Order: sequence, then C-alpha cells, then structure tokens
Amino acid sequence: MTNTAIEASGLRKAYKDKAVLEGIDFEVPAGSVFSLLGPNGAGKTTTVNVLTTLLRLDGGSARVAGFDVASEARRVRSAIGVTGQFASVDELLTGRENVQMMADLLGRRGSEPIGPLLQRFDLEEAADRRASTYSGGMRRKLDLAMTLVGRPQVLFLDEPTTGLDPRSRRMLWQIVRDLVNDGMTIFLTTQYLEEADRLADRIAVLDQGRLVAQGSPEELKRQIPGGHVELRLAEIAGLEAAARVLPEATPDPDNLILRVPSDGGVRSLRSLLDRLDEYAVPVEEFTVRLPDLDDVFLALTGQSTTATEETEAR
Ligand code: ADP
Repeated sequence: MTNTAIEASGLRKAYKDKAVLEGIDFEVPAGSVFSLLGPNGAGKTTTVNVLTTLLRLDGGSARVAGFDVASEARRVRSAIGVTGQFASVDELLTGRENVQMMADLLGRRGSEPIGPLLQRFDLEEAADRRASTYSGGMRRKLDLAMTLVGRPQVLFLDEPTTGLDPRSRRMLWQIVRDLVNDGMTIFLTTQYLEEADRLADRIAVLDQGRLVAQGSPEELKRQIPGGHVELRLAEIAGLEAAARVLPEATPDPDNLILRVPSDGGVRSLRSLLDRLDEYAVPVEEFTVRLPDLDDVFLALTGQSTTATEETEAR
C-alpha cells in the first residue's frame, strides 16, 4: 500500500434531485485516524458507503488502500473492514459462533485466530452465550471483532459510539488507539467533537454535503472561539427578557435554556452576569460548557446544527 490509505477527490452524490455530497476532497495517510465530524444528515454515512464500494459515485473519484473504488471494488473490499452503528451480529448465535461465521465467510487462510481476538475484546467469558444476552457495548465489541477477523488495512467506523454509555464509549476509544498503534488506518465518523478530538490525527467538518473545515484537532480548535454558557431561566418571560439582553444567544424555549457563546474566561463571564443584573433578569442555573459540535458549527458556518436541521425540515 502507498503511504496514502484513502484519497478522495471531488466526491459527488445525489439522491434524485437532492445533492448529498457536493465535491469533497481529502487524504488520509496510512496508519492515522481521520474523523469526519458532522450532525445528522450531513452526509457521513453516504461518504462511508462510497468509500466502501456500497454506493456508486455520481462524480469525482476515490482510492482506498491504493485501489479505485469504482474499477477495483473487489480489491478495495478485501482490504477494508466496516463497522456501523447497527451491529451486524446474529442474535441467535453465540459470540464465538458469530466470529467463526465471519471467518468461514471470508474463507481466508490469513484470518485472525478467534480465541485471542475474543480475549482482546474481553469477550472470552461471554463467548459461549447467545449474542441476544449481550449489552450494547458488548455487541459493538463483538461486531468489531467480526470485522477484524479479515485483518483489514483500513477500518471504517461509522458512528461507532452513538447510543453507547460513557464507559463503553471510553472502552471503544481505547480499542481504536490500540488498533492504530498496530498500524491500522481508521476512518471514523462521529457527531461528537470530543470523540474526534481525542482520537483523530485529522478532522474534517462536514455540513450539508460540503467540508467546511479540515485540520488537526488543535488547528480546528483555534478556529472555535470557545465553548458556551447555559443559562436556565425560571419561566418563559425570563427567557425572553434574557434573549433581548443577549442578542448573540440561542434560546431553547422548551427547556427554558439560553445558550450564550463564551470562552469561559472570568472577564467574559463577569460581563455576561453584569448585563443580566442590569436588566434584573433572574437566572436559575448558570453552567459553563466546553465546546461541542454546536459551537463548532456556529463558529464555522454561523449556524447551529439545530438550525441546519430546521432548515432541512422546511
Ligand atoms: P449522516 O450519516 O451524516 O447522518 P447520511 O449520509 O446518512 O448523513 O445522509 C445524508 C443525506 O442524504 C440526508 O439528507 C439523507 O436524508 C439523505 N439520504 C441518505 N440515504 C438516502 C437514500 N437512500 N435516498 C434518499 N436520500 C438519502
């Protein structure tokens, strides 16, 4: 394999009249983690489906593990592994049988031995129980073990931790780190800034089929002014009053919360409180938050992710 594990150039895809990918370019060096970060509906799964040869491009080209996704699809498939949000585990089989089934399907001499694989994912004890008795986290691990049987060079993880509890999430992060240390290339899609920040060497931010930013986590964080402050008001009148005093804020009337962009520094917090005091707006709760995906989008596109979804719904 060349030193570039994935090369995407001008990727375009549309469903009927709706453009879903509008010319996307990126490169992923071998042995690194690349994260595609974006809200629901941004086009992350579509990108994964194109790169894993499940979906045909309408324009542009891509090479994975040195092979063209259109003309060398079979060779691409034998070099990659894919794990999605919806595990492809057979509930009626035990953990061991699931992994064995995958090894049989691949029918490759070079497949990973099953015992050590189960051990690596801490699934040995549960290996002979039906997968239907597994927790969500265990199922994801089993799914990943099944993917790794074929010793992929490039691993696609499509929102691998969506819906997982924090403990299982951290466990999966550690697995990803171990795989990269072993030399694997990982393409990770996520809705969580924290996840991309912790795992990725490079992050690309996807918004409605376009990349709005690309860089190392540090480079991206420099573009994001900071996190935000959440103010909880006692009643809707208070929320409206606070929103008038703080025109830069985004109100969430259902939860009586106002989201105010802020770097969390003492100066900006004091000035925020002073402005509220001046107009005698009573605040129930005041929380300083680290940047999340919404802050990234507000900084990069001038729109929050919720605003994007609303526009889409209309
Ligand atoms: P993400 O993974 O970022 O949530 P997707 O790639 O799944 O986004 O979807 C991007 C957009 O493409 C969404 O607006 C979605 O509704 C649309 N889309 C996805 N699959 C299909 C399909 N088979 N037919 C029509 N539209 C689709």
